[in-house]
Amino acid sequence: MNDYGVFSLMPVTGKSVFEENERASWFSHKTEISKPYYYSVYLADQDVTTEITPTLRAAIFRFTFPKTDSAFVVIDAFQRHSFVKIIPEKNEIIGYSTFYARGPLKNFKNYFIIKFNRPFKNVSTWSDTVLNRGNLSAENKHVGALVGFDAKYRGEQVIAKVASSFISPEQAEENLKELGSDNFEAIEQKGKDEWNKTLGRINVNGGTIDQMRTFYSCLYRMLFFPNRLYEINAQGKIVHYSPYDGQVHDGYLFGGTGFWDTFRALYPFLNLMYPSINKEMQEGLVSDYKEGGWLPEWSSPGYADIMVGNNSASIVSDAYMKGLRGYDINMLYEALLKDANNEGPIGAVGRKGVKYYNSLGYVPYNVGINENGARTLEYAYDDFTIYQLAKALHRPQSEIDLYAKRAMNYKNLFNPEFKLMSGKNEDGSWPANFNPLKWGDAFTEGNSWHYSWASMHDMQGLIDLMGGKDVFVNMLDSIFKMPPVFDDSYYGGVIHEIREMQIMNMGQYAHGNQPIQHVLYLYNYAGEPWKSQYHIRDAMNRLYKATPDGYCGDEDNGQTSAWYVFSAMGFYPVCPATTQYVLGAPLFKKITLNLENGKTFTINAPNNSDKNIYVQSASLNAKTYTKNWIDHFDIQKGGTFQLQMNSEPNKQKGIHQEDFPYSFSTDKNK
Ligand code: CA
Repeated sequence: MNDYGVFSLMPVTGKSVFEENERASWFSHKTEISKPYYYSVYLADQDVTTEITPTLRAAIFRFTFPKTDSAFVVIDAFQRHSFVKIIPEKNEIIGYSTFYARGPLKNFKNYFIIKFNRPFKNVSTWSDTVLNRGNLSAENKHVGALVGFDAKYRGEQVIAKVASSFISPEQAEENLKELGSDNFEAIEQKGKDEWNKTLGRINVNGGTIDQMRTFYSCLYRMLFFPNRLYEINAQGKIVHYSPYDGQVHDGYLFGGTGFWDTFRALYPFLNLMYPSINKEMQEGLVSDYKEGGWLPEWSSPGYADIMVGNNSASIVSDAYMKGLRGYDINMLYEALLKDANNEGPIGAVGRKGVKYYNSLGYVPYNVGINENGARTLEYAYDDFTIYQLAKALHRPQSEIDLYAKRAMNYKNLFNPEFKLMSGKNEDGSWPANFNPLKWGDAFTEGNSWHYSWASMHDMQGLIDLMGGKDVFVNMLDSIFKMPPVFDDSYYGGVIHEIREMQIMNMGQYAHGNQPIQHVLYLYNYAGEPWKSQYHIRDAMNRLYKATPDGYCGDEDNGQTSAWYVFSAMGFYPVCPATTQYVLGAPLFKKITLNLENGKTFTINAPNNSDKNIYVQSASLNAKTYTKNWIDHFDIQKGGTFQLQMNSEPNKQKGIHQEDFPYSFSTDKNK
């Protein structure tokens, strides 16, 4: 996203070069060390080893130089207007970067402070391609600094303590205090302890070393986003720069997440394992709404104009349904109603095509609104999440009824000729050119085979539309039986998401992108859970690797990782804003969830193996368990979920309607 006002530090030796291509160095990934709390790389052309260890808003760099009379560190504040100032008497460089590609953001600056442990031998600033020797400050389109050091022997080190702030230079200096008087090793150890504690919320046993690596790499990725944009001021108060009015406000703010991706499993995972941080994120959404007037859909930070849907509704509703409290839910609910009934300042905020959607029950194919089918289907699910929250907040019955009705709007796009969802014209006719294999057009980064299952809240309704369970299962099976053919004419070329589906050779199954990621679990709604168990294990094995190219597509702010982590635990939140997780089968013999409330929930599958991928029988706290789902609040109570695994499916288990997961159509409490 090119965001957040990036700036860089780069060691150079020999010549006082500073431009990107001149200062560049060969390096090999083979000699990198990359850990959540430590990074090291040997820069071959410079003959310098660079290390970094971070805190939340600061970091220590350590440069190990060869013996040279020309050792430098280049500071680059990048090319969207920048500023640097060298303060030799304090061994310090301050400045700001405004590098940001999804603007405009009001008054956006990333202020930085870089404090070296040694005096500068010489100083320069540079602007574009011109070096100004002896100059102490520069402000222009693209500026930086170049400071020199003595390296009298091979192995001489230069240490730089670095911090940044979106608020002010003074706040950057405040953030530098996160490092205290700790040296490099102390910060590294603290980072290691912190990550060990955080990742240790889940313990997995009884898998291969590669499965462990994949699992914890995914968990790490999930916890990396969204980013904290708030800072702690000198008075100890939580404050943030607002991308909306450019001012500093009290309270939390987060960014770096696209809800189109992350509503599906990333946020539900936070609600399960790290609810206290999602409570802060919900407070951050209150800040977004108060300062910007809308909830973001893709925050990087603020409002970025990409993707479709109004899935912030799911983010807000799921948190509340899963028991998070202690923030202004009524203001967030007010925001949901506003966003659900208005077009926003940009297409990706509020609901584009809302007038059509609210009057016709769908956004038509032929009125000049792109990706109208995806919008309709996502709005309908989002309306279900609003309905759930409206009930929980005891809103007026007329309001509850309205969103219950709109939640059924997905039915309007069911094209009976194909038994699939398609775009629909304003006059109610079906577009003559409908091709279920066409990516984009009525849909978003997917085709009809990916989007037809988007009524996560009402699979029974979809089963009824298709003509019963057998047809539904047949349609699911077809995804894997079809060849990976496609129509890319909407994009005018093969987008990477299409290529990722094609090369995986799993038919039309496109796990490298988000709309289909819940679909493997859907056999549970039609009484054939063993097919889910088979495909989920297959996807875990084939689509996730403990290698640098281990992901099958965009990782997308933790969502694709969240699919793996949930699936490896044996369940998945098919429909956020309900409290059910639909069952698959775990990857490990034992998984222990150390819940934030102090309780422990263990998933035991002692005879799990590469062959024993099917659940023969299950018990929860020593009582036989027949359901195809498990409830969030049962997990929160702590306990043991015991699974007997087998190499053959048990075709008598999970076949009865009363054991199927939630569907709105069969909800007796609605
Ligand atoms: Ca994606």
